[in-house]
Amino acid sequence: MTKYIFVTGGVTSSLGKGIISASLAKLLQARGYKVTIQKFDPYINIDPGTLNPYEHGECYVTEDGAETDLDLGHYERFLNVPTSQANNVTTGRIYQEVIRQERAGAYLGKTVQVVPHITDEIKRRMKLLGDSGKYEIVITELGGTVGDIESLPFIEAVRQLRWELGTHDSLVIHLTLVPFLAAAGELKTKPTQHSVKTLLEYGIQPDILVCRTEHHLNGEIRKKLALFCNVNINAVIESIDAPSIYDVPLLMQKEQLDKIVLSKLKLSSKNEPDLADWKVFLDKLKHPLHEVEIGLVGKYVELPDAYKSIIEAFIHGGASNECKVNLRFIPAEALNPSNVASKLKKLHGVLVAPGFGPRGLEGKLEAIRYVRENNIPFFGICLGMQCAVVEFGRNVLGLEGASSTEMEEDTPHPVIHLMEEQKGIENTGGTMRLGAYDCDLLPGTKAAAIYGKSRIQERHRHRYEFNNKYLKKFEKAGMRASGINPDNNLVEIFELTSHPFFIAGQFHPELKSTVANPHPLFVSFVAAAMKRADVVKKAS
Ligand code: GLN
Repeated sequence: MTKYIFVTGGVTSSLGKGIISASLAKLLQARGYKVTIQKFDPYINIDPGTLNPYEHGECYVTEDGAETDLDLGHYERFLNVPTSQANNVTTGRIYQEVIRQERAGAYLGKTVQVVPHITDEIKRRMKLLGDSGKYEIVITELGGTVGDIESLPFIEAVRQLRWELGTHDSLVIHLTLVPFLAAAGELKTKPTQHSVKTLLEYGIQPDILVCRTEHHLNGEIRKKLALFCNVNINAVIESIDAPSIYDVPLLMQKEQLDKIVLSKLKLSSKNEPDLADWKVFLDKLKHPLHEVEIGLVGKYVELPDAYKSIIEAFIHGGASNECKVNLRFIPAEALNPSNVASKLKKLHGVLVAPGFGPRGLEGKLEAIRYVRENNIPFFGICLGMQCAVVEFGRNVLGLEGASSTEMEEDTPHPVIHLMEEQKGIENTGGTMRLGAYDCDLLPGTKAAAIYGKSRIQERHRHRYEFNNKYLKKFEKAGMRASGINPDNNLVEIFELTSHPFFIAGQFHPELKSTVANPHPLFVSFVAAAMKRADVVKKAS
């Protein structure tokens, strides 16, 4: 019998429900339970694939090719277990299914309504992963804030499920804010009381309160929260601001969140969580022996959430090298031939980010030319790889006007062009090349040495690809295709033979980096940056 934990949010958004959910899951997993986390988002988009990164940050891609909320990235990074299409559901997807059924005549002449038809479909999806038999505990995070109009059907579905599942097989954790009023010098419980009241109006009594706060909750405050929100005092959990998201599982353990959850669900808590590896990682993260400066050239640099997985992959890759990675965000549009040297010369590595559309293209090409000519480690991801191809085509092979047809349809040299299977596709949602694909690494290449194996699987999200018509020319000039898709011959990795570290991949390695398994490309890129830092130090 699967146990269900629902996580709701109150008072404001951005309290970190994803991190709390992932931290609790980590603690339960570390006690030996099989846990998964799913996210239900109240917006009407079918998935976040069509959203601009400025809206909700990066779009995370799962092994099975779902375009999902970035919280799924946290789940994978914390648990080291892949998520799937079923782990992220939106209002849009729920309605799409109900409307499809209605057109198919499945409702037998009935009026189709939010209650029970939409709520039934929500409940069905909430139980899908539990019904698979693979998990003992399913944590469901509800996006949005309690009280929002659009969250209502989800809250109602949780109310019904709690009733159906019973008190020992489900529980509700409410994440809330306990603000500190500097003028009064006090923490305030009223917003929490109100948001719990709102939940109560919908028929849900939270079992546990997790309180985000900038100051420790004293006994008085805990007592007050317990009394006014009908929870046990030991179920008032403090979630104090942490220096790193990776501290949160340990903070939650200190507050005994996992123990309370287990006792409420009548699950045994005899094994203490085994967090030995997690603590080794944290120790390396907090006590680095080295430091490097790495530039991230992209077009959404004002909003770091747009590059969430890349930032986290650098944290994993840095910790594994006992190295602090200082990421410098560089807007691609700000780079031009006259300032590129001054902006990049002090860096020990440059990453050119994924992206869509022509904005900032020329700046990215300048950055790549500079690091290629100056032996600065370079890492290109997806669009970053395509830019490396265009730059090499133009500046080394002399292919004047070489470009990607995404940026310039009539380019005389379409070194990057639309993939065959993308031609004729009109819908933008869910139609890219998505999810994990095989890639064979050529023996003797840097890529093969870094991965230490000959076949890898990496996740994709793009429409364009390298134009194999130009492959011979590239290889002859030293740009080697070191990773090839065995099924369709697409080039997945390029590397420069005569450069200390110049590697570019058509896929997104950042999506597979976890605390337990830092991604080898990030680990080796940071190591290359450390070498560069030594060279720079010796020269000065
Ligand atoms: N815009 C490029 C493409 O669609 C690259 C996509 C990406 O960087 N994820 O192929």
